[in-house]
Amino acid sequence: MTLHRDDTSPAATWTFHCDVCEHRFTSAGTGQAQAVADATTNGWIVSNMTLCPGCAAARDHA
Ligand SMILES: [Zn+2]
Repeated sequence: MTLHRDDTSPAATWTFHCDVCEHRFTSAGTGQAQAVADATTNGWIVSNMTLCPGCAAARDHA
């Protein structure tokens, strides 16, 4: 899983990078667990791999 905390922003943000494509998702969650929950709610899969909604759907239909 690719996740890093962006300390350069005024408010801490968490950025998820899809492992398959170039999509990114940024959450302003207060912690990693909150950020993961936020991404999951938006269709991302965050486990051993980080997949955006599109790649997650493609994988499900593979
Ligand atoms: Zn993707």
